[in-house]
Amino acid sequence: MDRLWTDFVNSDYHDWRGRDRSEDKLGKTEWQQGFIKQWQLNASVPASPEEEGALRSFRNELQALATRLSEGNPLSSKDQEWLNAKMEEGQVIRRLNAGDEGLKLSLIPVGTQWQQVMAEVAADFAITVVEGDGRRIRICDNADCRWIFYDDTRSRTQKYCDDNRKILQRKYANPEIACFQQLLYNIYVLKIIQLVVQSIQSEINTRDSSVYLTKKTMIGDVSYGDKLSTEKWLCIIYGFVGGSV
Ligand SMILES: [Zn+2]
Repeated sequence: MDRLWTDFVNSDYHDWRGRDRSEDKLGKTEWQQGFIKQWQLNASVPASPEEEGALRSFRNELQALATRLSEGNPLSSKDQEWLNAKMEEGQVIRRLNAGDEGLKLSLIPVGTQWQQVMAEVAADFAITVVEGDGRRIRICDNADCRWIFYDDTRSRTQKYCDDNRKILQRKYANPEIACFQQLLYNIYVLKIIQLVVQSIQSEINTRDSSVYLTKKTMIGDVSYGDKLSTEKWLCIIYGFVGGSV
């Protein structure tokens, strides 16, 4: 499951298919908007260049720290100080809420700047270390992926992130683009089908009568010049693919 801090760190996106389309999403307005909304935080979008710079260096340091812990190193006192300094930049208030599972005491972020967001991310990372186990932090074994995640399997053996989920997330992150891509893909497929059908048609037209007769038997009651139904076309394609041609 995504956590606030893994979602933040993974804004440094690597294409797991190895097509070298890796990109740093942190500076993108859509990413910032989605992130803020997903985690119910407040900050002005787009972040100013200074804020973006601060976010990026914080992200890179957190990434390095997560990597160190994933390698089995403990949280050093220097790491602890660094996390404390980051958490200090955001204030919270306490609030008692009644939920489905009874009463719950929550810490509500006060600030509406990116410093507050970073403080929340740092706090979420600290919770992972305190309540979980830093050695369960994983970096996906796929060298092209490097997605950072928390292994909550009982056996602690998860080596790869869940790529299917990532594909879905990317696909629906921008529905307009996904829709347009799908449209282009459909046109492409239709064009290929059209070319196949045309080549089959010209093949039939140019065959000598004996071969044509064999084909004709195979495809049933189709005669040259007939207006062909879908089933007949399927028969023809089947005959060519599976037949003796
Ligand atoms: Zn992965």
